[in-house]
Amino acid sequence: MNELSDLAAGLDWDIGYLTLTEERGEVVAALRELADWYEARKDQTDRLCLDCEQDTQEMREYYMVQDDLWKTVNPDVDGMLCVGCLETRLGRTLTPADFTEAPCNTEFPHSPRLQARLARAA
Ligand SMILES: [Zn+2]
Repeated sequence: MNELSDLAAGLDWDIGYLTLTEERGEVVAALRELADWYEARKDQTDRLCLDCEQDTQEMREYYMVQDDLWKTVNPDVDGMLCVGCLETRLGRTLTPADFTEAPCNTEFPHSPRLQARLARAA
């Protein structure tokens, strides 16, 4: 939850006890719209690579690495890095052992370079 949608939800609740005029309805609708926009934008911002700001989901580089490795390259923990920027921070190429068993590593579509890093020896 974020503050804006809390605000919109709270406002709606308060207004329920008042005589609902058309104007108030419009204010609530506008706030709702703003809250939705904020939520969508926030979600998108979360997907952007911290370094190059490309959308990691659009690049198909949505993946999970081991906690220790992630804390080494991103001590703040929050945020996303594309494969290239993570490897730049790490100073080496990722190997299959660096990844977790998370579904995003096995089920999501991957970019060719992520696919190459994930590829396990047959
Ligand atoms: Zn990047």
